[in-house]
Amino acid sequence: MVSVSAVRTLVKNAVLDHVPGIIRRGPATDPAGARRVALTFDDGPDDLTPRYLDVLDELAVPATFFLIGARAAERPATVRDYLRRGHQIASHGWDHTRFTKLSRRALLDQCRQTDAVLGLQLSGRPWVRPPHGSLDATSLLNLILGGYTVAMWSVDSCDYEIQSPAALAARCAPGPNVGPGDVILLHEGQQWTLDALPLIVTSLRAAGFECVTMHDLLPL
Ligand SMILES: [Zn+2]
Repeated sequence: MVSVSAVRTLVKNAVLDHVPGIIRRGPATDPAGARRVALTFDDGPDDLTPRYLDVLDELAVPATFFLIGARAAERPATVRDYLRRGHQIASHGWDHTRFTKLSRRALLDQCRQTDAVLGLQLSGRPWVRPPHGSLDATSLLNLILGGYTVAMWSVDSCDYEIQSPAALAARCAPGPNVGPGDVILLHEGQQWTLDALPLIVTSLRAAGFECVTMHDLLPL
């Protein structure tokens, strides 16, 4: 049965796919024939970040981290560590307030403050992922006019409610949910997400997928 929320998500995604300045997934067919996906992690850094970075190192997987500015400001060494280990970092707002609740001035202040903590982003043009994925026409326009690329996702792991590593890995497994070009949304600070990572990467690799940063996934 198709639920109302599933239809709402389909409509929202169809709209997002046609708005310039928003990126959500890479091409389904790679010119080199590669099957690639990007793992992305929101809401860090925090106490668990070093363990996420160790697990990703062991798996030899580069990922993309959308950081909360205020948290990043308190952990400059961790911010450097993401980069030193070959990951991409981008903005997730200053304090996780929904962008739709902020005035234009407050929104751009939040973004600029976070950019200053993160330093120059790999992509050149700064990327931002709105907290809670909340976006309306006004906040979107303010971001785009402010020079931002809005980086969303195409697969929600739902790791804020699915707390079993096996169930999470099943949700992120190649198949109807996940295919080439997908950008998978995960979160930092959660033991179950950390425990699911080796399972997720193993099943993607078994199906011939390579995990890359979101920046590498998108031909910009
Ligand atoms: Zn978030």
